[in-house]
Amino acid sequence: MSDKDEEIPPPGYPDPNEISRKLSDFLKSNFGDNVSFSAMPSSGSPFPSEPTPASSGENHDPKKERADVFDFDLLPRQIKHHLDRFVIKQDEAKKALSIAVCDHYNHAQYLRRLVVGDSQAAERIEFAKQNVIVVGPTGVGKTYLVKHIAELIGVPFVKADATKFSETGYVGADVDDLVRELVRKADGDVELAEYGIVYIDEIDKIATSSATGGRDVSGRGVQTTLLKLMEETEVQVRNPQDIQSQMQAMFDQGRGKPSKDTINTRHILFIVSGAFSGLEKIVEKRLRQGAIGFGAEQTTEAEKAALKEAVGTQDFIEFGFEAEFIGRLPVRVVCEHLEKEDLFEIMKNSEGSLIRQYEREFEAFGIQANFQNSALEMIAAAAAEEKTGARGLMTVCERLLRNFKFELPGTSVTELTVDGDLVNEPSEVLATILSEAETFADSRVVSELAAFKRKFEQDYGVKLAFESDTVTRLASLAEERGQSVLQLCDESFRDYQFGLKLIKKNTGQDSFPIPSSALEDPDKFLSGLVVASYEKEESSQVELDLGDSDSQEPS
Ligand code: ADP
Repeated sequence: MSDKDEEIPPPGYPDPNEISRKLSDFLKSNFGDNVSFSAMPSSGSPFPSEPTPASSGENHDPKKERADVFDFDLLPRQIKHHLDRFVIKQDEAKKALSIAVCDHYNHAQYLRRLVVGDSQAAERIEFAKQNVIVVGPTGVGKTYLVKHIAELIGVPFVKADATKFSETGYVGADVDDLVRELVRKADGDVELAEYGIVYIDEIDKIATSSATGGRDVSGRGVQTTLLKLMEETEVQVRNPQDIQSQMQAMFDQGRGKPSKDTINTRHILFIVSGAFSGLEKIVEKRLRQGAIGFGAEQTTEAEKAALKEAVGTQDFIEFGFEAEFIGRLPVRVVCEHLEKEDLFEIMKNSEGSLIRQYEREFEAFGIQANFQNSALEMIAAAAAEEKTGARGLMTVCERLLRNFKFELPGTSVTELTVDGDLVNEPSEVLATILSEAETFADSRVVSELAAFKRKFEQDYGVKLAFESDTVTRLASLAEERGQSVLQLCDESFRDYQFGLKLIKKNTGQDSFPIPSSALEDPDKFLSGLVVASYEKEESSQVELDLGDSDSQEPS
């Protein structure tokens, strides 16, 4: 009973959860769904936390990230270098964005320091914010660039489509929500949110010129609202239409919790983007008037991009933007179209490559997927046909590998070579693989083996590559001996790490095929490998010596 007594809130502070419930019922029965009333989060915070670019790092420490933003000391070349790891091509865009980001955060930091000494002087400083407009087709890395910049500098990042604002009646409320979302992504840290990045895609859809197919009246309204936000305005931290948020504010006040009520947008960096199809015609028309015309037939993507590179304020205005709106976006960036060679490069060398993702996904089922260049070239060519930039890669790979992902897990297959043959004749290749594989009734065989391999590699830095018939043999041995596959592996390969690490040291080899014969006498098999590695080392030494003498006396 005494527990219950403790639950009763002290007089003057009613239990918010109880009120939340009662009000929700009351409002619903009187007004239906016209009034929003979100459920009270259990923590009492109106900003439930969710992984965000600013907070999704493995060792998330908001305080550290905060310090990073407010001690911003990156150089443009360092930002570009970071982007190069993930984003292929788009060099000019990377440079322009890196500079804009440095200017923006250096200035914000300068003001923060000034405020400490002389807040009035800080107010008087004039600064044209480096908001950015990115022109480029879909799937070429526009969002990807901005997301990685936000991650690098540790600020929250929010993305929205401009079309969302023109489709609903409440432009202002939606746009304000975008800023409030920054606070949510910053785990409720309003000050950090004030230095966040807002990225708005499909900005070309709010152009008002009927010639370019833009939406009319609502487009202008959205531009005006966004303009206010890009300049400087105060947005209420709590949505005035959300009664629960307002109530939370009341409770916080009642408890004397110090919290900022508004978010100032002065230091929020705005990046807008769009495909701007037809913009090149406007640019071309202007250039031709000045008699610097390009050829009559501008059809290729490269030529279109070249024209877009020359885009000026006047062209954007003709496209359907208000002069004031476009004036607030002084940094102009053009992203290039991606050719099939670029798509190949993305798969092969980008750190966030889709291929790494597929390798991990197959690996989880104990299957090592090896993508050969011949296959990557064909996938890139097919993806280029999709005309959706790097997004085409996902479409093509999904189509190509879906049946493999469905059929192979749970079989004795431990390796999948994705080569030209597989891309050409996926069904035939899959049928052949399956005809030679065994499907285990007990799915634990595969999952335990995958877990064993993963752990072995993690602990010792060497890989055990079980051949397909080894897996079949392991399954039957385990059954015969009444053991699990995991127990059997633990037992059979108990001391393998010592021998294999030695071989790795001698020869550099870090992946070891394990044939089924190894299971007959695992220790003997390992000794054989170690002896062979010494012989190999010696013979390569001899080759080296011979090579040296060859070079002195060519025969
Ligand atoms: P958009 O230009 O339409 O904003 P995204 O940036 O969202 O396109 O790209 C979609 C996905 O394609 C990204 O998440 C990324 O995996 C991949 N991608 C696109 N462009 C590139 C690029 N230049 N380099 C590496 N990956 C890219």
